[in-house]
Amino acid sequence: AKEQGNSIYHFYDRMIENQLSENMKLENGLRSALLNDQFSLYYQPKIDAKTGRISGAEALIRWIHPEYGFVPPDKFIQLAETSGIIMDIDEWVVTEACRQNKAWQEQGLPRFPIAVNLSARHFYQGNLISMISRVLTKTRLDPQDLILEITEGSLIKSAEYVIKVMADLRAMGITISMDDFGTGYSSLSQLQRLPIHEIKLDRSFIQGLAHDPKKSAIVRAVIALAHHMELGIVAEGIESEAELRYLRSLNCAQFQGYLFSKPLREEEFTQFVKHWDGS
Ligand code: C2E
Ligand code: CA
Ligand code: CA
Ligand code: CA
Repeated sequence: AKEQGNSIYHFYDRMIENQLSENMKLENGLRSALLNDQFSLYYQPKIDAKTGRISGAEALIRWIHPEYGFVPPDKFIQLAETSGIIMDIDEWVVTEACRQNKAWQEQGLPRFPIAVNLSARHFYQGNLISMISRVLTKTRLDPQDLILEITEGSLIKSAEYVIKVMADLRAMGITISMDDFGTGYSSLSQLQRLPIHEIKLDRSFIQGLAHDPKKSAIVRAVIALAHHMELGIVAEGIESEAELRYLRSLNCAQFQGYLFSKPLREEEFTQFVKHWDGS
């Protein structure tokens, strides 16, 4: 039994070692990705329920590795966060997204805000306000045309400080959106405290909601809550007409999901906007 225990121990040991060296490789890969221009942004439209017009775009990062090919964000964002590289990646993302939105405006596309996902680490490390101001100045984008999407679960620590930073961003004219709403901890107490403008209902509540009484009860309650608190509400991950119909009946303000479009490359997105007729 002891022998067996030992070999199991060695097995896990090796597994952890492999995991560690895999992570090291990935970490180094992330650093060189930034230097070698291997990241790009894709854009997914958001649709306004009332007008049918494009009400915004969410920028989503893509990593094309020269050897491994496409690496999805779920595979590297977490490691980027624990290793701290996320600070540089997010700054790159904000810069690129603002630059792109300004370029679309200058090309005469209808004006809409660009939404960027921001790691909650920015609220504890570095200077978010000065990073954002620097980027807005550099790209000459109006702060009204920028939305920061922030996840809830990670904002538990030092709430006072987080609230202050958010209030400063708000005062600058930037919109703050609470992403993945309902999946983290203490969502409701955060809603009460954080100076946000908008809630994004997580995809997990949307998919199949028309046939799932529990999901539909949650979605109905969250949308009503947003209305009562005068917050914007976006449903993400809409894939079917049935989901859309249901969300419409609840007066959800904005829609996003494959039903309208997958995240698109810059040129594809530009074409999408030009040909979008509101249906
Ligand atoms: P998220 O912010 O919740 O983004 C929504 C995810 O759902 C995206 O996955 C999007 O492509 C996908 N999606 C949109 N509509 C549908 C749909 O109808 N059906 C399905 N099945 N999926 C849909 P993606 O691009 O793989 O990103 C995954 C997560 O990685 C994001 O979740 C976000 O948390 C993170 N992420 C992506 N880009 C960035 C970034 O630039 N910076 C940071 N810090 N995180 C990012
Ligand atoms: Ca998001
Ligand atoms: Ca989500
Ligand atoms: Ca997320």
